[in-house]
Amino acid sequence: MTDQASPRILVTSALPYANGPVHLGHLAGAYLPADIFVRYQRLRGRDVVFICGSDEHGVSILLSAREEGVSPRDIIDRYHRRNKEAFEKIGMSFDNYSRTSLPIHHETALEFFHDLKEQGVLKKKKEKQLYDEKAGMFLPDRFVMGTCYHVRSDGTQCEYTAAYGDQCEQCGNSIDPLKLIDPVSVLTGTKPAVRETTHWYFPLGDYQERLEQYVEEHAGVWRENVLQQCRSWLKEGLEDRPITRDLDWGVPVPTEDGSKKVLYVWFEAVLGYISSTKEWAAKQETPELWKEYWCKPDTRYFAFIGKDNIVFHCLMFPAILMAKGGYVLPENVPANEFLNLEGQKFSKSRHWTIDLEEYLENFPPDLLRYALALNFPETKDTDFYWKDFQARSNNELADILGNFINRTVHFAHKHFQGRVPPPANSTNAIVNSLPCSRPPRRVLHSRTKDVASARGSVEP
Ligand SMILES: [Zn+2]
Repeated sequence: MTDQASPRILVTSALPYANGPVHLGHLAGAYLPADIFVRYQRLRGRDVVFICGSDEHGVSILLSAREEGVSPRDIIDRYHRRNKEAFEKIGMSFDNYSRTSLPIHHETALEFFHDLKEQGVLKKKKEKQLYDEKAGMFLPDRFVMGTCYHVRSDGTQCEYTAAYGDQCEQCGNSIDPLKLIDPVSVLTGTKPAVRETTHWYFPLGDYQERLEQYVEEHAGVWRENVLQQCRSWLKEGLEDRPITRDLDWGVPVPTEDGSKKVLYVWFEAVLGYISSTKEWAAKQETPELWKEYWCKPDTRYFAFIGKDNIVFHCLMFPAILMAKGGYVLPENVPANEFLNLEGQKFSKSRHWTIDLEEYLENFPPDLLRYALALNFPETKDTDFYWKDFQARSNNELADILGNFINRTVHFAHKHFQGRVPPPANSTNAIVNSLPCSRPPRRVLHSRTKDVASARGSVEP
């Protein structure tokens, strides 16, 4: 039954990168909270569509493919399939799980690009970039490494020697690759040259005022961490951002000089929510239905993300949608902090992780859903400890909840011929109608010593 009074609800979870397996930290961030929210809305009979999919472009996928000696397509096919399966097994109830390598996404992203170009929104700029002469290509983002040039607030130099061309993982600052000290091409190990290239830019600064208004309209509703991060970006002042890259992996854009350029992943990946909704609508032979959720102004849109995605979903994506016109903006962007693993950050490179599929090989889904839901990093980072997981599973689920159900079923068999009895006027009436108000002792003996401590909380 549908709740007619409520408008449509659109829920998206951040698109995971098809460059590695989803781990428990991801699950506690943008996925499980969204799934719980969606299941609640569905129980209320509301019209809700829940959208996700794999983000399959970007430099890291190219680098992984190079490392393994396989094609980027091999990488995305592998992780799209594995992550989709793991999400299904853990009970994520997406209405559609798409992928950004599909033609429907390329068409959607290019429609935005061409439309913004024709409207005169985008700017073309010449700029200098690092170029690997041996490999014959420009070196965007992580294709170049060098020493960090940032100065910390205490005046000391960061000087991290393995800083990437987009970000320094030691001080966390973003990097201008042209400023890197001793830059080296990741492809050939050679010192890159500087060459001129042309890129399209999105004028984020032009949307400063409208974004300030949009963010402040949600003060008191959005989480404090989300508001603070948005305000700090807005205070710094927004600037033009490039939306194209000199690469051959991604959504190709036409160029006048025949050079290979693709849309920058920050610009096109967020549009994956729209293309995934289009795919969902097409699958059920109502290809225009996606517009109900994206273009009707009374749609309520909730975008679940992790805290590393705040600026993209609260400022950049809304600005793109404002520029395009006719789309709803997120009403709320719940961003969780990070879940850590036994006191340390999840890290694929340091092998400090629990992949979702690895968990599922050993335990059933609901134990993890329960343990994580009680410990979501909603206002601060939290930790996953195996000891906690064990205690919650054994003490709370098996003993308290298991015992409660065991007893209820036992009562139903003993006193009501195994059927659910009709409801009485009050709890007392039921209790008083029973021959004894305590369950037979033997029901409690089905489990071991921990039952004793659980007993007090479940006995009538
Ligand atoms: Zn640094």
